[in-house]
Amino acid sequence: MKKFRAVSRTDIGRIREKNEDAVACSDRLAAVADGMGGHPGGEVASAVAIALTQAAFTGQSIDELQAAVRAANRAIWDRASDELEGMGTTICAAGMTDGGILAVVNVGDSRAYLLRNGTLTQLTDDHSVTSEAVRRGEMSEEEAREHPHRSVLTRALGVAPEVELDAATHPVDQGDRLLLCTDGLFNEVADHEMASLMTSTGDIQATADALIELALSAGGRDNISVVLAEICA
Ligand code: MN
Repeated sequence: MKKFRAVSRTDIGRIREKNEDAVACSDRLAAVADGMGGHPGGEVASAVAIALTQAAFTGQSIDELQAAVRAANRAIWDRASDELEGMGTTICAAGMTDGGILAVVNVGDSRAYLLRNGTLTQLTDDHSVTSEAVRRGEMSEEEAREHPHRSVLTRALGVAPEVELDAATHPVDQGDRLLLCTDGLFNEVADHEMASLMTSTGDIQATADALIELALSAGGRDNISVVLAEICA
């Protein structure tokens, strides 16, 4: 039976007045959410997304994790139509199933990465205007990085009664490390810098702290959230 151990850290950054990110970490779930819609909607949307996903995922299956995220979508949508119009959130959730398989569900532009044998691989696709243009071959990665529309999402949780999810399972081994993060990290810190920190730091809490510090020293222009998990025997 593989064990899953996760730690997290979230930081308001250097510019923003509110932290609209939310995180979850437990012995079977790692998740980040990046809320939008201004005060107080963004904070509410990300907090609801994380709370409902965490409450409903018991480790059964990827279907259970998808159902949890769909229920969160519906709850945010209902609340948005009542009181907090325009709110929404990303969510990227990685759950360890009882079968020892990692289930990843993603909507928006938060990310999950897997570090295995020193190689960092992004497990999720960003749902943003620029990332979709890159996948269609219409824009280069360099153009996308500097593009004014790079944070315009094509999918989010809570903005419609139904949501299209990306969902995939990944086999994981002892020694694998998982990173979930909001765009406040990867817009400031290059993938190779994340990989080298994750490889060189033994303790995952120290790694999480170091990643946040790196994003802050690079500018900290957005809220920054990371959840790190390791697969143990
Ligand atoms: Mn963000």
